[in-house]
Amino acid sequence: MNDHYDVIIIGTGAGGGTLLSKLATSGKRILVLERGPFLPREKENWDTKIAFNTTRYFGPEVWYDKNGGEVRAGMCYHVGGNTKLYGAALFRLRERDFEKVQHVGGLKPEWPLKYRDFEPYYAEAETLYQVHGKSGLDPTEPPRSGEFPFPAMSHEPRIQEVADHLASRGLKPCYTPLGIRINEAQKYLSQCIRCSTCDGYPCLVHAKSDAEVAGVRPVMGLENVTLLTETKVERLLTSLSGREITGVVAVVDGDRVTVTADVVVVACGSINSAALLLKSANDQHPNGLANSSGMVGRNLMKHILGSLIGVSSFKANPTKFQKTLSLFDFYWGDEDFPYPMGQVQMLGKVDKESLEGSESIYAPLDIDFVAKHSLDWWLTSEDLPDPNNRITLNRDGNIVVDYTENNTPAFDRLMAKWTETLKSIGCGCHILPNGKYFNAGTVTTFTMKLGINGLGHQIGTCRFGEDPATSVLDLNCKAHDLDNLYVVDGGFMVTSAAVNPTLTIIANALRVGDHLVERLGANGAVLQTAPNAMNSARTPHEVALVQ
Ligand SMILES: Cc1cc2nc3c(=O)[nH]c(=O)nc-3n(C[C@H](O)[C@H](O)[C@H](O)COP(=O)(O)OP(=O)(O)OC[C@H]3O[C@@H](n4cnc5c(N)ncnc54)[C@H](O)[C@@H]3O)c2cc1C
Ligand code: SF4
Repeated sequence: MNDHYDVIIIGTGAGGGTLLSKLATSGKRILVLERGPFLPREKENWDTKIAFNTTRYFGPEVWYDKNGGEVRAGMCYHVGGNTKLYGAALFRLRERDFEKVQHVGGLKPEWPLKYRDFEPYYAEAETLYQVHGKSGLDPTEPPRSGEFPFPAMSHEPRIQEVADHLASRGLKPCYTPLGIRINEAQKYLSQCIRCSTCDGYPCLVHAKSDAEVAGVRPVMGLENVTLLTETKVERLLTSLSGREITGVVAVVDGDRVTVTADVVVVACGSINSAALLLKSANDQHPNGLANSSGMVGRNLMKHILGSLIGVSSFKANPTKFQKTLSLFDFYWGDEDFPYPMGQVQMLGKVDKESLEGSESIYAPLDIDFVAKHSLDWWLTSEDLPDPNNRITLNRDGNIVVDYTENNTPAFDRLMAKWTETLKSIGCGCHILPNGKYFNAGTVTTFTMKLGINGLGHQIGTCRFGEDPATSVLDLNCKAHDLDNLYVVDGGFMVTSAAVNPTLTIIANALRVGDHLVERLGANGAVLQTAPNAMNSARTPHEVALVQ
């Protein structure tokens, strides 16, 4: 296990899995370390009770809040990371999201790079993740260099009806851009079968563009790529000067091993990446690696997220795949509220099984009636970066999430606005909470708004910037304090905007990938992926097998 690699990538989620796909064809020797296994393909993938009410896919790990209370964030520790369970709604940030904007809760800072810097990488990301969408409908849409690579996923009849009602009220419903491999024109060729168990579930037929399917598997046939699964990285070692990472310490099958590379990329997800840097404190970096600014772990954001069910007393909703509709009408506010409010999108369809056990919450309505008559919505408002919202480690080395929500009136206003809208179009006879989504296996109370367990949109713990005094990473996402350490996941983001973060994480990974290809002297792709690469992923513990 004392082999030396050109690059080690730790984590295979949106950041790490995408970066791997970018670097793999360079011919450089890449070692990928992933703490989880491949997610098994089994009938249970599409079983609501298993997916939502157990920890089979969402891990049981416990973190703590600042008062010592348990936080069960339910991370998906598998190849592909949280994207294995994501809803695949892949939005670009709006142009103004990169600028200073006054919110009701304070002034949001600007990014050191702008939308125009990300645009080519958004386009590349949409191609890699096969995003289906339609431009020209969303009034806040940023300029694009081209149309979406695939046509939008159509609305089913009930959702089209809702879209028409909304349009008749002067609103501008648009199609949610989705990383779903569907071919609606030639269904017999479609990978996606358009089922009702997508958002929050693994895809049994690998038709969802998660980071395993889009990033990792296509390059697993390459000889220069080695993936070691069920390998948890515990610590990074540095040279005496503290300027270089000289070893990555990981646990494989209970054994502690150290591997080395010219370049080390941490892509464990915002919270785990910050925790790894803090855990790796040494004499040269007493407050944690890359932390001379004291910013590692700070400015954690997670969005203010709401999940609600609008029940119509007189109209059933037989939709299977519901997540096709979004609205940005209130994104930047309205005439009565001149501050950004956020975004509204549909969720995966709630079914009876997902409501079982919570009958009293829905009484006097029967849960079967609720499931059959509901339209299910996801509301996102921006939380602002606050250095006091942070990840630390407790005395036992466990993760502590110290987070206090801010910008709350924006969310309250969005919720009120959306409730009023649903009532006005006959879709809100009952407005009810939906507590299962994003809270897998953990829910004891139902609210319209997700609490601290809802960390699926975690970002911002290692922000990038030009000033080493106020940021952890430089503009290439290299640590200011070290010469060969990069962080490539949601941690780099300066603000959260009010759209799902993953396309931005993917685009950034592709951007950093270009930089790394240049740094490693590997200009130009030299290798082809094997034609059968989807089926040729190597077995777990590959490093042990090839040596
Ligand atoms: C239910 C759900 C639905 C979602 N829906 C959407 C959506 O529709 N659209 C959207 O944009 N976003 C969505 N998200 C959010 C999306 O999943 C995340 O934004 C994205 O996965 C973050 O990418 P990342 O690279 O930062 O981290 P992750 O994808 O979490 O990847 C981190 C990886 O690092 C590995 N790892 C962690 N620690 C270690 C360690 N010490 N050693 C080795 N490996 C390690 C993990 O196992 C994982 O593979 C959703 C999330 C959830 C939970
Ligand atoms: S809707 Fe399509 S992509 Fe989603 S889980 Fe079903 S088959 Fe997979």
